[in-house]
Amino acid sequence: MKVPEKIRTHCPFCNAHTEHIVSINKKGNTRHNSKGTRKFREIKKGYGGMPRTPKKPVYKTAKRVVLLLKCEVCGKRHQKVYERMKKTLELKKVE
Ligand SMILES: [Zn+2]
Repeated sequence: MKVPEKIRTHCPFCNAHTEHIVSINKKGNTRHNSKGTRKFREIKKGYGGMPRTPKKPVYKTAKRVVLLLKCEVCGKRHQKVYERMKKTLELKKVE
């Protein structure tokens, strides 16, 4: 599916329809010293093995795509979630 690089849509901060720059949201890096990972590391130590059951492989064909919209007036970003789509999403250039 193709999405134009610029979309005119509603901005919740300006409370009006403005031009937005579109980019695809990617998952950020995991933090190795966040509280959850520190606690998990502590639990895994020593005798006793894994505290949680290992994850089963997931066979899903469609991915949920999140678009990052940046308002050109106020410069703030908000997200727009598409439903699950099988085809890869690409940004279409508009001259
Ligand atoms: Zn705005």
